[in-house]
Amino acid sequence: MAAPKRFFAETIAEETVLSEEESRHAAAALRLTEGDEVTLFDGGGKEYSAVVTSVKKGRIAVHVVRESVSDREPQAQVMLLVGALKGDKTELVVQKATELGVSRIGVFSSRYCSAYMNENKLERLARVAREAAKQCLRARVPQVEYFPSFEGALRAGVAYRTRLFACEFLHADDAPAADFSSVAAVVGSEGGFCEEELALARALGYTGITLGKRILRAETAAVALLSVVMYRAGELS
Ligand code: SAH
Repeated sequence: MAAPKRFFAETIAEETVLSEEESRHAAAALRLTEGDEVTLFDGGGKEYSAVVTSVKKGRIAVHVVRESVSDREPQAQVMLLVGALKGDKTELVVQKATELGVSRIGVFSSRYCSAYMNENKLERLARVAREAAKQCLRARVPQVEYFPSFEGALRAGVAYRTRLFACEFLHADDAPAADFSSVAAVVGSEGGFCEEELALARALGYTGITLGKRILRAETAAVALLSVVMYRAGELS
């Protein structure tokens, strides 16, 4: 039998009414009816098994049967810091990073970054993270933040034990990294980084690393680096 359909709800009580958006989707696309079993998640790590009690005009009410804690969340705490990308590329990166298991995503502006962020875009990114978490069965939705200052973004990463700075003009890693249980991983925007930005990162304890001899697009670099980090953290097995 297919796993119960999953729904996001900000607050979950014994009797919960799904949001208008989730209700509409559940009624129209998923054809949920009374008695169906569903899973609710609040994005904070908890999941709940529930049963649909009523479907009225696209307003769906459920009764929570039990609470559970997801075992699909990574042990490793990984923050992705990525330059704001053009078009919908940042959304793509947020989606892939969420699937790969990051706990936090910081989007920054930097010297050669030409994309901009605003409240609407940030809200859209948070929504992409939520949808991706739902689809890949995560219980936690990564927090998405915007750092208008590049230094501010790097400083947010200082809370992580291992700090990696993917730099397209390095030909060798500064040093090998060993501890992948707590990682801040930095990837630049389409415009890449400058020497001063690499120097600032190094001063804040980041290890400059290469992703090989080819120049990857920013979104490819983000997925490649996070895959390596999650693999080394033992989260991809
Ligand atoms: N405009 C730059 C390329 C930027 S690529 C140029 O023409 O050189 C975007 C980002 O992806 C880079 O800032 C870096 O973080 C990452 N990246 C891409 N290829 C990389 C590589 N071979 N090694 C390390 N980082 C890489």
